[in-house]
Parts: sequence; structure tokens; C-alpha cells
Amino acid sequence: MSQQDVLEGYFGEFGGSFIPPMLQEAMDYLTAQFYKYKDDPEFKEELNYYLREYVGRENPLTFAAQLTKKWGGAKIYLKREDLNHTGAHKINNVVGQILLAKRMGAKRVIAETGAGQHGVATATACAMFDMECVIYMGAEDTRRQALNVFRMELLGAKVVPVTKGQARLKDAVDEALNDLVENYKTTFYLLGSAVGPHPFPTMVKHFQSVVSEESKRQILEKEGRLPDAVLACVGGGSNAIGAFAHYIDEASVRLIGVEPDQAPTLTQGVPGVIHGFRCLVLLDADGNPKPTYSIAAGLDYPGIGPEHSHLKVSGRAEYVTVTNEEVLEAFQELSRTEGIIPALESSHPVAYAKKLAPTMSKDQILIINLSGRGDKDVEQVFQMLNK
Ligand SMILES: *Cc1c(COP(=O)(O)O)cnc(C)c1O
Repeated sequence: MSQQDVLEGYFGEFGGSFIPPMLQEAMDYLTAQFYKYKDDPEFKEELNYYLREYVGRENPLTFAAQLTKKWGGAKIYLKREDLNHTGAHKINNVVGQILLAKRMGAKRVIAETGAGQHGVATATACAMFDMECVIYMGAEDTRRQALNVFRMELLGAKVVPVTKGQARLKDAVDEALNDLVENYKTTFYLLGSAVGPHPFPTMVKHFQSVVSEESKRQILEKEGRLPDAVLACVGGGSNAIGAFAHYIDEASVRLIGVEPDQAPTLTQGVPGVIHGFRCLVLLDADGNPKPTYSIAAGLDYPGIGPEHSHLKVSGRAEYVTVTNEEVLEAFQELSRTEGIIPALESSHPVAYAKKLAPTMSKDQILIINLSGRGDKDVEQVFQMLNK
């Protein structure tokens, strides 16, 4: 990738910024500030401090001995993002962006949320950094996720139900963007995944790359060599790009993104523009973004980060799908076998590894990125299994 591509946020033909001029002004300002601070020694030191003392990094790369024995092939290692404070990888990015917001002099943080996971992570860090926090959420979603609304309020955030349009995530994003256009000198828009206009995909990758920075060091310590494959689930793509980042230039390492078969953006998507950037996108017959469905709320998005779109088209990474049944089975199998209840999202790569591992030899190595813990999903799984 050329220097110019990096500056403008292009990954091959994907990425960029397709937004109104008012919003572009806000993005240009953010881009300049991100590049000003990202490699600043004091900024890095402060970020490392909070990742260690608040998030609980580094987290382990656990050898799954029972699963390895049961599946009878490659050695399985689990990168334990489930052990982070708030129970998932999202907090890595939230802490990074809030520290940047503070450097930029913002007093107020806004974010959108669908199921509530990104809203809760944002509200958590805003509480600790003493920032005003406003979360936009579709009114429909606030009813379905009443407990997460209460959680965010408990953490001191203001949750604004959005009644426009279909009162869902997309409408919440629109409201948050309207807020940003008016207030960008004092307000920071904290985006939760590796999507959106430049600089967000680049910035979110930067803050999530700590996952593979650690796992690479850990696997070299434990095994003295690189893994044969790294597996992660893909919603917007932030945990996967973080898990892949430090292996992208290691040609011997297979990178495998796993999607729900009912939201197969990378497997079936076509190039298009969605939410201000170019990526592979699932379109309906009229050329509009197609509604998706996944039992894992965090994977329910018709678009995908631009870098994954590029990794797919260039052939560097593989993207595969698993069914809901396979995901439910993997959720239970990891719980029973290793004593780890994974998030439904994170059960996707587990489900695929179950098929892949037995085809590999016993001296090969798989790393599964366990993006989050499953406590949030236990009630839903209970209902699905007892129908
Ligand atoms: C939000 C979420 C995801 C999906 O988001 P990405 O940006 O694709 O990583 C995956 N796993 C968990 C546990 C999540 O909370």
C-alpha cells in the first residue's frame, strides 16, 4: 500500500470517505489529531498504563488441552479477550479513543449502540475518565435491551432513544453524526468497530492490534514458532483485524474470518458504499443494504471493515461461514470441555476450528480469538435450547 493510500484510508479499492462536507471537516480534524498522538511516547505510555491497570492486559494465550485432545488434530490456543474488564475486546478501542479525546480537549463523548455492548464499554470508560457520555440507541433496541440501557445509566451515561426511521442502529448512527457535525470541537464520536469513514478503520485497527502483538509474543514463547492459522469472528471486523494485524506480513500464517451464514458479507457481498465508506456489502434486489440476522447481535451488520474487504479480494485472508446450529454446539462444547463460556460471537471461530483442526497434524497450531465471554448470552441460549 502506498503512503498516499494510508493517508487517505484506502485499502486497495476499499475504505475512503464518502460523507457530506460538514462531516468531512470533522473527520479531517480527527485524522490530524490521531496521527499527531498515535506514536507520541507519553500517549503510548498512558495507553499502556490503562490497558494494564484497568483493562487487565496482557491477557493469557491459553492452551486448550482438553479440546485439542478431543478434536484430535492441531493444537488449539485461545486468546482470552473474554478476560478483559467488561468481558470483551471492545474496551481496548474505547480506552484508546477516549485518551485521544482527552488530548483533543473534548469534554463530551458520543456513541451509537445496537444491542448495547459498545454503549456499555463506552459508558464504562467515560465513568472512569470523568467524561460526559451520550449514547444514541434506536428506540426499538432500547425496549429489547432494557437491561443494557439501565447498565449504561448506572455508569452515568445518558441514553437517547432514537424514534426516527426504523428506530434501529442505522438511525442511531445518523443521530450521532448530526450531533457530531454541530459539536465536533467539543465532542468526540467514539466508533465501536473497524468501519466508517477514514480515519476510523485505521484508528480502530491501531487500538485493537494489541491483541496480535501479544499473541505473537506469547506463541513464540510457548511454541518457539508462529501459528499455522488465526481464527476470529467478523461483525464490523474490529476483533478480527486486531487478531490478524501482526500476522498479515507473515505469509505462512493463514488468516480465517468466520461469519454467520445469515450475514455472509465477505462470502457473498459486492463492492458498494455504506455508512460513508466503500466495502463489500450485502445488497437486496433494489441495491439497498440487506437486513441481516444473526443469533449473535454483535455480528449483525450488512457491511464490513474496508481492510477485510481488501484482504478478501487480494486473497490474503479467507472468510468462511458457520450455521446457528454449529455455533450453539460450539458454545456448549467449549463450556463443557474447557470451563470457558464464550460469547455467541466468539463461538463462531470455535465452530469452524472444530471442522478445521482434525484435518491438520498434531504439531500444527491454531489460535482462536475469544473476543468475549458468554455471560450476556446465557439467557438467550437457555431459551433457544428449551424451545
Ligand atoms: C461486538 C462484538 C463482536 C463483533 O464486533 P467486531 O467489530 O467484528 O469485532 C464480536 N465479539 C464480541 C464479544 C463483541 O462484543
